[in-house]
Amino acid sequence: MTINKTISVFGGGCAGYSLIKELSKIDGVDINFYLGTNEIKDNYWGFWKNINDGFDFPIHAKWNKWKISDWNDEADFESFDNPYCIVKRSEWYDFCKNEASFKPVKFIAENIEEKNGIYYKDNREAIRSDYMFDCRTKSFESKVYKQQFKGFLIQANEDIFDSSTVNLMDFRCNQESGIQFIYLLPFSPRLALIEPTTYSYDTQNDDFYLNTLNEYMLEIYNVNNFKILNEEKGAIPLALLPDDNSPAIQVGVRGNANRPASGYTFYFIQLQVKKAFDCIIKSKDKFNLNIHSLLIQFLDKVFLDVLKSNPKLAPKIFISFGKSFTGNELANFMTNKIKIKSLLGMIINLPKVPFIKSFFRNLF
Ligand SMILES: Cc1cc2nc3c(=O)[nH]c(=O)nc-3n(C[C@H](O)[C@H](O)[C@H](O)COP(=O)(O)OP(=O)(O)OC[C@H]3O[C@@H](n4cnc5c(N)ncnc54)[C@H](O)[C@@H]3O)c2cc1C
Repeated sequence: MTINKTISVFGGGCAGYSLIKELSKIDGVDINFYLGTNEIKDNYWGFWKNINDGFDFPIHAKWNKWKISDWNDEADFESFDNPYCIVKRSEWYDFCKNEASFKPVKFIAENIEEKNGIYYKDNREAIRSDYMFDCRTKSFESKVYKQQFKGFLIQANEDIFDSSTVNLMDFRCNQESGIQFIYLLPFSPRLALIEPTTYSYDTQNDDFYLNTLNEYMLEIYNVNNFKILNEEKGAIPLALLPDDNSPAIQVGVRGNANRPASGYTFYFIQLQVKKAFDCIIKSKDKFNLNIHSLLIQFLDKVFLDVLKSNPKLAPKIFISFGKSFTGNELANFMTNKIKIKSLLGMIINLPKVPFIKSFFRNLF
């Protein structure tokens, strides 16, 4: 089917590239892709990929085992149907560019600004298109609760990492600054991405992350001599941001693809993009790209409310949460495929009093 439409995509990040890859499959469309002029540093996007989900990704690395741990306890997972995968930003861009390379996509290194519902190019010319997608960075206020992190790609001089298992949350680090954990991707026994992470309203400085890394390496691996090969830094809102009523269709973090309680976004962007594709193919007038159901939003709200009110309980809550799931169940839960049986198992396992209080606080 040929659809003779013009499409403009604003913002050359994860969502923008994902869109042009997918929408360029539609015969007849003409796409202008306004990348913006900010250079974004490379980073990894982690997510669970079901082997039958039909998505084709340039997987940089994958693991069948992962865990959540603290000093006293550990929740361990294994799955061959839903491995934990990572995609590298630069490799994703190349993959999407390649997929769209024989199609009418114009890559334009320009910033787009919106005023009174109209999108303007650098030269103040207004943009007119049949479909406009806005995936530009959306700044959020400092008072938004957020996940903040700085990742260090570490090269050690000896074999110290267990390269079979990702540590999604290692609470064996200082817990004085609210909820704090280490995310660890072991690429080999000597190479790992180690990411000190906080859930908090406050912003931490670079010294905080470096000190946390040094303490962790010494305390857990008894190592104080290692090379930092690369760094990535980010903040993801642990909330759905208010709609700004702009006329363009919003995708990515701007379109609330981020899962409120975890910050995972990459996989949900792919689901949003699939929905956008379907809306265009079906010539829909109104696009509904909401990804997180009301049930997920409610569960995440309660979960975050418990964490905010009881930050010291975070390690126990996350480990109990983890222990209620098998690897496949956790992967399903994290990608919004909730099964009532595993949901009930999770509810039974969590500390009752804080959850009951939060449940009622958020119900009304
Ligand atoms: C370091 C880091 C690690 C992350 N890790 C994970 C992870 O492991 N798993 C996961 O699921 N999620 C992760 N996330 C969250 C999420 O997946 C990413 O933030 C993702 O990049 C969001 O995609 P996006 O397209 O919405 O925003 P971005 O990728 O940030 O893209 C926004 C784009 O808009 C452009 N832009 C800005 N202003 C303008 C303008 N005026 N005109 C035109 N363009 C403009 C910017 O240059 C940028 O290219 C991570 C985020 C960060 C920052």
